[in-house]
Amino acid sequence: MSVENTNDLLALLGPAATAFVNKEHKLFIDGEWVSAVKGETLDVINPANGEVFARVPAGESIDIDRAVKAARRAFEQGAWAEMSPSARGKLLWRLGDLVEKNADELAQIEALDNGKPVNDARWGDVAFSHELLHYMAGWSTKINGETISLVSGAPFHAYTLRTPVGVCGQIVPWNFSLMMAVWKVAPALAAGCTIVLKPAEQTPLTALRLAELVEEAGFPAGVFNVVTGNGETAGAALAEHTDVDKIAFTGSTEVGRKILAAAGTNLKKVSLELGGKSPMIVYADADIDKAVSAIASGIFYNMGQTCTAGTRLYLHNDVADKVLEGLVSHARALKMGPGLDQETQIGPLVSAEQKQRVCDYIASGLAEGATLLTGGGSWGTSGYFVEPTILDNTHNDMRVVQEEIFGPVLCVIRFSEAEEENVVIQANNSIYGLAASIFTQDISRAHRVAKRLKAGTIGINTHHVIDPALPFGGFKQSGWGREMGWEAIELYTELRSVGVAL
Ligand code: ADP
Repeated sequence: MSVENTNDLLALLGPAATAFVNKEHKLFIDGEWVSAVKGETLDVINPANGEVFARVPAGESIDIDRAVKAARRAFEQGAWAEMSPSARGKLLWRLGDLVEKNADELAQIEALDNGKPVNDARWGDVAFSHELLHYMAGWSTKINGETISLVSGAPFHAYTLRTPVGVCGQIVPWNFSLMMAVWKVAPALAAGCTIVLKPAEQTPLTALRLAELVEEAGFPAGVFNVVTGNGETAGAALAEHTDVDKIAFTGSTEVGRKILAAAGTNLKKVSLELGGKSPMIVYADADIDKAVSAIASGIFYNMGQTCTAGTRLYLHNDVADKVLEGLVSHARALKMGPGLDQETQIGPLVSAEQKQRVCDYIASGLAEGATLLTGGGSWGTSGYFVEPTILDNTHNDMRVVQEEIFGPVLCVIRFSEAEEENVVIQANNSIYGLAASIFTQDISRAHRVAKRLKAGTIGINTHHVIDPALPFGGFKQSGWGREMGWEAIELYTELRSVGVAL
């Protein structure tokens, strides 16, 4: 199929997604669909061919301020503030049902907007989103404090109350647009907070479709607001706003630092899910076939635009050639094409900028002495495609091994039997600590190494380990806090201690 023409691609959208994409997009503030005050818009670009296919409002600080005011009103008084936990849980469950019911449409919008394969969007992003909404709906009715025995033995009855943190600003990236939004929205709503969501400028559409579903589910006005716009304007205004109680951010470590500085205006609570450079270690006793498929998905899933992507492969010399042979043939067999094509396994990267950045990193690795095993650069005549790429003979001092590439580029570092103890030290030699994986059939070693790796999520004989019930987050410069599981509820609540003189 030709990807030259937007009309060819748009023909792959179902009627519901077509109707949504073609409508005039607005901001969702206080239960109403409104234009940005200044009337500016942002182009939405199809990464499979570089053409503009939609426009969304370019919200700025004045729009953020309106949304924060609406979220504040909804938090302090009215239907949401007075709603029982059980009614809140039911609304959240209904939202999960609506995401599930509209899953094909959401997946198509995501595939068009981000470029990712539509089946990954359907069975990854969207399926995870409704699972998480349903899971978090259950927590709404289980947010308890504790009774505390006082050490002094004073005649007090003492207990804690767990209450919602308040108005939450949530800033999300483009790699899993809907899913990253839901990671933040679901626990915040379960806890009783109100929200201003700022999606990434590259992929704003599924957040707007989510707002329609929030409206359809029946959430009161002002509980959930969406302001599309640029990071430096709308995003920065949200992070700085002095009436926002908490800011939750997923994105680059560089922008994470800016969020932290901006949050200083009123010392709002901050949670950050930032970059990664996750190691995968393959020992000589690993099951090679299983390791190859887990490693390939570890690096190439979502074209490597995954914060947990396994980008550094530490390979024992005894199995290195066999593993690499498997990985190279796997990489070459992946079908490239536009995300909306059902056959596609590798879509384009999200933007021209991202494509250039990844190609520059590949060139820098080669210039520093890496050996190219497969891939190596851009693909096709239009769009932002980069081939699945494997660089052999890399080492920890190279930029490609230390810096986050956020593309389909695997760096291979071989180790000998004598270096085996040292390999965990090398794997930990990174400013990041989001995920890591180990491939071995020796269960003692697997658990021993899992305890030494400095990362928030560890896979043993698998790489991507993710579930609504499992806390997710980073060590070191990969972030602050844990999303999902009960820990996400903790991020969106405050504890109040109460003492009653008896
Ligand atoms: P990436 O590097 O993956 O594009 P970013 O960290 O730049 O990711 O962006 C993630 C999110 O942060 C996006 O929604 C973007 O608009 C927003 N953002 C970018 N710069 C800022 C900023 N200075 N303040 C607040 N938000 C920002």
